[in-house]
Amino acid sequence: MNAQPTPSTVFDVQHVRADFPLLTRSVHGKPLVYFDNANTSQKPASVIEAMDEHYRRHNANVARAVHQLGEESTAAYEGARDKLARFINAPSRDELILTSGTTQSINLVAYSYALPRLEPGDAILTTVMEHHANIVPWQLVAARSGATVKAAPIDERGELDVEQYIAMLTPEVKLACVAHVSNVLGTVNPVREIAKACHKRGIPLLVDGSQAVPHRPVDVQALGCDFYAITGHKMLGPTGTGALWAKREHLEAMPPFFGGGDMIREVRFSGTTFADVPHKFEAGTPNIAGFVGLSAAIDYYDSLGFEAIHAWEQQLLTYATERLREVPGLRIFGEAAQKEPVISFLLDGAQASDMATLLDLQGVAVRSGHHCAHPLMQFYGVPATLRASLAFYNTREEIDAFVVALLKVRKLLM
Ligand code: PLP
Repeated sequence: MNAQPTPSTVFDVQHVRADFPLLTRSVHGKPLVYFDNANTSQKPASVIEAMDEHYRRHNANVARAVHQLGEESTAAYEGARDKLARFINAPSRDELILTSGTTQSINLVAYSYALPRLEPGDAILTTVMEHHANIVPWQLVAARSGATVKAAPIDERGELDVEQYIAMLTPEVKLACVAHVSNVLGTVNPVREIAKACHKRGIPLLVDGSQAVPHRPVDVQALGCDFYAITGHKMLGPTGTGALWAKREHLEAMPPFFGGGDMIREVRFSGTTFADVPHKFEAGTPNIAGFVGLSAAIDYYDSLGFEAIHAWEQQLLTYATERLREVPGLRIFGEAAQKEPVISFLLDGAQASDMATLLDLQGVAVRSGHHCAHPLMQFYGVPATLRASLAFYNTREEIDAFVVALLKVRKLLM
């Protein structure tokens, strides 16, 4: 955590907030404090306007029509692929499959890459801190193939036991998986080190990047992984957008997952041939306007730069952690050395859902529950936590308001 603001990290957060129309609203008569960003982020006006403009002026289907609107829509949709490729430094735009989000991206790898390769006795390695999207698809394909799913442990601080993860990369492991950043703890996992260990053993690595891309620059080539899955709605974009990056050699070897229009070269009843990557994985009409919005989201990140975003968010994380530690009886889950601005916590003797409801009445939006991470809740021995997840458009004043609200809730419940 980076405690001290330096001149290079001065961030005009009020200027930034003016770009997000929703942040001006009130909830239950109180100014909104939106701390549920890991669930989904708010959207800048430029994203909303880009989608509006698309439907008002350019709307047509992609890759099918030669008319002007069809060309404009196709250019916008394919332009999003270019931007996403650059955003995560993919070596080629053709290695980016546009999907509806991380869940679809991981399922694509599960059914198209893993399932055809898995045999009885094989294993997939994941971790205890994963979102269900990086557990359940592996369980489904394991059940079909006679393989098993193994989970590497974490410690009390919410850090992955990397030594143990590497020790679990045994010959029967056919695919290794890890979150870049935990959606519950904010822990940043050492993906590069894990990728090196995987490759020494010839095991491909899938990284769930959903919670990393909103906070830090991602370079899939530097990370050295094989698959990287992202979701658009957590990074200022619309819901129903996302991507899978994969090394070309894997994509070439993978059969299509969905069949239908746009993913074929020629269809005959005697046998169908498929389009080249990435199109062989994109059947049917995609979320065109959504990707127009996601393009605008990437432009927005570019306009701020991740250096400034990251520095500001780390200041917010440090401040929020310090302020929360002042609340008597509050337990924070996850105190990794490297964290993104996600803080899970509980108050002694209070139910997470009651607290979230009472916080909402004061205008504070946090998430309560298991955060789609049952095994992590089981590790900590709790059914649920509260999670305050911050974004670069949040402020220290909002953290203060959140702590005041929390102290009020504590008084009510104790
Ligand atoms: N992986 C992680 C770490 C997440 O936080 C989420 C969403 O909460 C997902 C996967 C699933 O993303 P989506 O629902 O957008 O497919």
